[in-house]
Amino acid sequence: MALDEEAVEKLVKAGEIAARTRELGARLVREGSRASEVCSRLEEYIVENGARPAFPCNFSVNHVAAHYTPGVSDDVVVKEGDIVKVDVGVSIDGFIADTAVTVDVGGSHEGLVRASEEALDAVVRLMRPRIRIYEIGKAIEPVVKRRGFRVIRNLAGHTIGRYTIHAGTSIPNYPERKSFYARIEPGTVVAIEPFATNGRGYVVEGGPVNIYAYTGKKPRIPLNELETEILEHVREEYRTLPFTPRWLARRWRPEEVVEALKSLASKGVLHAYPVLVESGRGLVSQAEHTFVVLKDRVIATTCPECGQ
Ligand code: MN
Ligand code: MN
Repeated sequence: MALDEEAVEKLVKAGEIAARTRELGARLVREGSRASEVCSRLEEYIVENGARPAFPCNFSVNHVAAHYTPGVSDDVVVKEGDIVKVDVGVSIDGFIADTAVTVDVGGSHEGLVRASEEALDAVVRLMRPRIRIYEIGKAIEPVVKRRGFRVIRNLAGHTIGRYTIHAGTSIPNYPERKSFYARIEPGTVVAIEPFATNGRGYVVEGGPVNIYAYTGKKPRIPLNELETEILEHVREEYRTLPFTPRWLARRWRPEEVVEALKSLASKGVLHAYPVLVESGRGLVSQAEHTFVVLKDRVIATTCPECGQ
């Protein structure tokens, strides 16, 4: 992605809003809070600040590592002792910031939370133009291990494109041989997200799908009237960014929406994001920042206090 001055400005602005949204999220998560209320509030906050959610607010509790967002009816209520990952994305004209924080409700998982935070801090200190991807993983994994935990090997940081949350290159949370020579070139936006766990260090798919994104592909099978209508709306409102049935249930009947989205996914028009859970039912922590890599410097957009 070529990054002109205007693009960088929008990326920085999106990062500032994302950072404030993340902090609001951290304050709202406590014993008894509802995922649906926290997520709606955070998504509203993003809009109030003149931006759009880049994806539905993710609210992943305990062994759920990622990609849970409240459905149209299901809800999660936070309990004492839970460990909650709040992951938010902000888009300004498709220029995206992606950031996450882990809340330790009850204070019994401090080491686990610190593991992912310290790993991310290590990357903040290391980040520079043309850094090797291998070097990032090599900085993350030992920090997590030193705390007595494992990184999740099949969850990774990622490059970000315009209106594209995963632009194709993964940034593993361990030193991966395959990425030994690959570098992060100027003009790249990248999210780094260490995940730490006391489980096996792998996630598997589980739980209901509440996040979808338009694939940009033509349907394999003809669409019915409602599907056509919903798809048109989705393309216009979200383009290729992820969205959730919750957002569409304001406009159509919730059951209709859920059914239509499933069908659109089966016809290849939508990509479905399944919930990812730790395979050993281990607890999971996550920390995440977005970085804009330029020729002469790197901006941690979701960490205004990090400096440049
Ligand atoms: Mn994220
Ligand atoms: Mn991410």
